[in-house]
Amino acid sequence: MAKTVKETPMMQQYNAIKEKYPDAFLFYRLGDFYELFNDDAIKGAQLLELTLTTRNKNADNPIPMAGVPHHAAQNYIDILVDQGYKVAIVEQMEDPKLAEGMVKRDVVQLVTPGTKMDTGSADAKKNNYITALTSVGDEFGLAYADLSTGELKATVLASTDSVINEVMNLQAKEIVVDNSITDDFIATLKKLGLLISSQADIVTTAELSYLSQDLTRDLEKQAVGHLVTYLTVTQKRSLDHLQKVVSYEPAFFLKMDHNSRYNLELAQNIRTGKKQGTLLWLLDETKTAMGGRMLKQWLDRPLIDRTQIEARQAKVSQLLDNYFERASLQDELVKVYDLERLAGRVAFGSVNGRDMVQLKSSLLQVPKLQAVLANLDNQVFNALTEKLDPVADVAELIEAAITDEPPLSVTDGGIIKDNYSEKLDQYRDVMKNGKQWLAELETKEREATGINGLKIGYNRVFGYYIEVTKSNIAKLDPNRYERKQTLTNAERFSTPELKEREALILEAQEKSTVLEYEIFAQVRDVVKAAITRLQALAKAIAELDVLQSFAVVAETYHFVKPLFTKGHDLDITQGRHPVVEKVLGRQSYVPNDVVMPTDETIMLITGPNMSGKSTYMRQLALIVILAQMGSFVPAEAATMPIFDQIFTRIGAADDLISGNSTFMVEMAEANNALKNATDKSLILFDELGRGTATYDGMALAQAIIEFVHNNVHAKTLFSTHYHELTVLADELPQLQNAHVGAIEQNGNLVFLHKMEAGPADQSYGINVAKLAGMPNVLLQRASTILEHLEDSANELPMSSATVEVESVAVEPVVAVVNTPEPQPVHDEQLALFSDEVVDPKNAAVINEL
Ligand code: ADP
Repeated sequence: MAKTVKETPMMQQYNAIKEKYPDAFLFYRLGDFYELFNDDAIKGAQLLELTLTTRNKNADNPIPMAGVPHHAAQNYIDILVDQGYKVAIVEQMEDPKLAEGMVKRDVVQLVTPGTKMDTGSADAKKNNYITALTSVGDEFGLAYADLSTGELKATVLASTDSVINEVMNLQAKEIVVDNSITDDFIATLKKLGLLISSQADIVTTAELSYLSQDLTRDLEKQAVGHLVTYLTVTQKRSLDHLQKVVSYEPAFFLKMDHNSRYNLELAQNIRTGKKQGTLLWLLDETKTAMGGRMLKQWLDRPLIDRTQIEARQAKVSQLLDNYFERASLQDELVKVYDLERLAGRVAFGSVNGRDMVQLKSSLLQVPKLQAVLANLDNQVFNALTEKLDPVADVAELIEAAITDEPPLSVTDGGIIKDNYSEKLDQYRDVMKNGKQWLAELETKEREATGINGLKIGYNRVFGYYIEVTKSNIAKLDPNRYERKQTLTNAERFSTPELKEREALILEAQEKSTVLEYEIFAQVRDVVKAAITRLQALAKAIAELDVLQSFAVVAETYHFVKPLFTKGHDLDITQGRHPVVEKVLGRQSYVPNDVVMPTDETIMLITGPNMSGKSTYMRQLALIVILAQMGSFVPAEAATMPIFDQIFTRIGAADDLISGNSTFMVEMAEANNALKNATDKSLILFDELGRGTATYDGMALAQAIIEFVHNNVHAKTLFSTHYHELTVLADELPQLQNAHVGAIEQNGNLVFLHKMEAGPADQSYGINVAKLAGMPNVLLQRASTILEHLEDSANELPMSSATVEVESVAVEPVVAVVNTPEPQPVHDEQLALFSDEVVDPKNAAVINEL
């Protein structure tokens, strides 16, 4: 082909490399730039706002090209990777000056969303997870890692659903699959917005064997093998900071599916996708990045083991009761840098002098933390204090070797302290004496020549010189002074004496920077050998940080310590939804009890829309989650069983996976709960059945309630607008009715947000329709129809025949009475972040329209 003939050797080299990385942007090093070519250039120019040019402009088919300066490359790489792309960095593998022919080039690193190391400060409190998947039969092996912290875990999962839950919960940035994962499943994962990479084989290394040492299940080993191979193949460098794989069981934690977490807004605001307005936002009073990440992990995996939960509670109690110690801990924690990510950079080889100083100052905080803990109950904090190893040898080494304010670069010197290396001190002496000697030479030359303006100077091109203005040149002996450079008004010279000294100084300078780098690398290796200890320390500090954060939250928002019962008693006095309360203000929030003794499993909640049913149910879920994380809870008192799973059908129905209809999602979620819930589970069904026709929905709702009551026995909160269902209490002994109080005042509807026993006795649908701005004539018509219906109430369920109006008019009105679209709770919360006015009083008043 004509085109191939025309290809320059450079483009041949480029294409050969590109062929191996078809799905990545190739950043091809060319002098001081990284260049992108062809499609990469066109797309890259657009995404990165670069100027698109061409190479070989005059050729028949010029090659599109765009470039970024090498020193600014990191920013551009981050932009692409954050948008889900991969970037292959191609470096010059030899000094271009020494190369014969084409400079050798190769990929030194493939940066991908899941392997990004340099997470900016905005992401400091977030883990960046990459997962790997493999399967045999119906079972999956799943491994995940955070390359920046070295965390590595693995498990075995029994279904595609559990895999989806796990990767969604981890917010995995990338999934590495092998050939065992079917195309169908890959397509499903892609639909969820997940980036899929493949790694067909496993390269077994000593490192991999070490990491997998404690694993017993083959599927876990396989998944770890693919993950570590992928990381090694893409990163092409030491991964010494990867921690030995910890095998885990999702069943050892409180189980919740992704939709529940999402709808409960645990860590992500449904509306904005951000942290603000979530439970995590409320809880996060951590002082370190490590603590921030651990808090998120605890929120992702609340405990189910009473001893473990109570161990956390005991520490929170201590920290809550000892204000002074807590304050000191916070003061010391703030000064601890991200040890985990620093350790990661040490292993990765990307650590610099400033990182070392951060590492040192963080380690110096450890004895201070220990001293504070020593003032608290020894029994409670003993184990944690012991884990706070100050890694003193490393701190001392850095203190001795690294200057207190090192430059960013590790190759330009100025990084190693005096008195650390004798050899370095010698070079520095030569350099320092050299300066002294030059100053003396200047005086000597001035005296000898009688030129007062004579100067000794230095520049990079010409080295050291003696500078004399043109008018004085005649005074110099031409045999001794050798001309170096001519300026407009002056001439610069050298002498044999100066040349000799110059050589000595320059040599010392060069050797000292080389030596400084060598010493730095030695220090780095010593630190590297201590990585496991640093990581263990990081964990202990993170734990302490989360616990003090719990104490702060407990104090700020008036939380109490929950007690756990062995039985099924659930008794919460004056519980609150902490996030809604924070947003509305403490005075405006109406607390509510949740009392469900062992023999009461179902609470059927009726009441008008917007009255607070959904908030009440969410409140219970959040209290359970908080309690099982080891946190205190927003209530005056709380006694509860330890739940094994939480199932919800709550809030906005959105099916991330297949775009199923709302109703289908509702039924699928309900089914999941009915199948998997145990008598230790918590089920929250909010307006189940509203996605279909009234009778259909009501019939299903009733059948589901009966099923839960007779077969599942899970604690269940079921809110509904089907008032007809309240009669179920007569037949189902474990069902209690409850309703949210509302009163009519001068034709206005006032929601009290207060839970009361018994069924709601009135439908407020028409008032809500009024709130929505429906025309008066329509509202009057609805009232008339309602009267009809109430007259024939004993014949419920209603049949359209009982309504003596044209069917066309009836349908929509009945629909309004029964199902005005409920406002999701977060809408209200968010309105408060904006300027929109929402009545902050403890009752929302709907005025006459
Ligand atoms: P429903 O589920 O009955 O339609 P929501 O639970 O969505 O009602 O509540 C509607 C709004 O009422 C919420 O957005 C919140 O602002 C307010 N609200 C709910 N519960 C309370 C409460 N206990 N105290 C004060 N305001 C509340």
